[in-house]
Amino acid sequence: MASRNSGPSRRARKPGRKQSGGAEPIGPEPWIIYMDNNSTTRTYDDVAQEVAKASVTLYANPSSSHLFGRRACDLLKTSRIMIAECLRAQPEELVFTSGATESNTLMFGQIRSRSTVIISAIEHPSVKENADWLAENKGCRVLRIPVNSRGTIRLDALEEALGEARDLAGKTSSRGAATNIFVSVMFANNEIGTVQPVREIGELCRKYGAFFHCDATQYAGKYIAYPAELGVDAMSMSAHKFHGPKGVGALWVAERHLAWFRATARGGKQERGIRAGTENTPGIWGMALAMRHNIRDRDFVAHCRRVRGMRDRIRMALREGIPDIIVNGDEAHMLPNTLSVCIPDCDSRQLIDRLAGDDGDSGSGRKYAICINAGSACSKGKRSQVLEAIGVSEELERGALRISLSRFNTDEECDIVAEAIRKLCREK
Ligand code: PMP
Repeated sequence: MASRNSGPSRRARKPGRKQSGGAEPIGPEPWIIYMDNNSTTRTYDDVAQEVAKASVTLYANPSSSHLFGRRACDLLKTSRIMIAECLRAQPEELVFTSGATESNTLMFGQIRSRSTVIISAIEHPSVKENADWLAENKGCRVLRIPVNSRGTIRLDALEEALGEARDLAGKTSSRGAATNIFVSVMFANNEIGTVQPVREIGELCRKYGAFFHCDATQYAGKYIAYPAELGVDAMSMSAHKFHGPKGVGALWVAERHLAWFRATARGGKQERGIRAGTENTPGIWGMALAMRHNIRDRDFVAHCRRVRGMRDRIRMALREGIPDIIVNGDEAHMLPNTLSVCIPDCDSRQLIDRLAGDDGDSGSGRKYAICINAGSACSKGKRSQVLEAIGVSEELERGALRISLSRFNTDEECDIVAEAIRKLCREK
């Protein structure tokens, strides 16, 4: 199964040094300190090997009826069962896609004209832009629910919007409310890490007869999320966010809704006719292995605790060295791996460039390339809608940094990163 390795010690990974026995070390060059795991994660070594193996040994098309095709189909079935078990779901409820962007687009493609679409103010662009598209092209009314300064959705505002939408739907609909009121709220935010009160949102949606889609890209697969038990109707996920391969994900859809789902990618009859195209069997297998490794891991709690400990270690060091630093998010409801801060009078773009140091000089006095982000990889160059929504001024946003860890990081790396940021801030 996938590696339980929590990452090689930095001392053993001096630049250019080979592992004992002369083999090249697996992983990025040892001077790269990667803390941008909300953008994407390192695939577990064993998962990568299994994906490669399936690509050369079980490469048949799972829709082919010959023996080799049936074997590929079996691998697909096994993967489906494994993922369903991790989500406490039914295997048939999974529609495999190329990732969360496609899952979100598939979901939004189901919404009928003139529906009310309710999203939070901090959704990922793959939700927000789909909602905007529906407003422009299908006459949908799109409502954006504000969040508080910690990034949590305002449940009172959501309930008000749902009440209004129900009154309106009652007047305009004769076909039941399933997609006439559509709510899409993310599980956890990719920029600031705030985890939303998903169960409460689910209860409200049920009360008002709304369909609840949850973009769980930063949560599902890495942490425990049972969508049906949380009152979610559909949930998006992406394997590369939880140490699986890139280019593969899923939309989980509660069984009772599958009958009215329509294909947005038309052609073949794969995935119950909802998503045409040959399934990425090796990738799906990798997704299943990575998810099972995370969710079924006996050391799951210990890993989460260790990652949270490392995150808090950086936060404490930054607070000590930069007293006016502002920490974003909700400390009580946070992804354990995410630290989002704003440093007053700092140009985070310059800081990030210097930390990454093209020549490898990170400012730490040693040669490391530190990879962190200003906000999300997806909103590069634009004002962050997330930081704006939680009330961060444009001025302060210039100093925004996002550090997102994984179990591959070490305490030593955390100290190097914190010290490098403190040093560059002292120099400014
Ligand atoms: N939703 C959220 C919350 C995300 O963080 C991301 C990735 N940044 C996506 C959707 C899109 O995922 P992918 O790039 O894998 O399609």
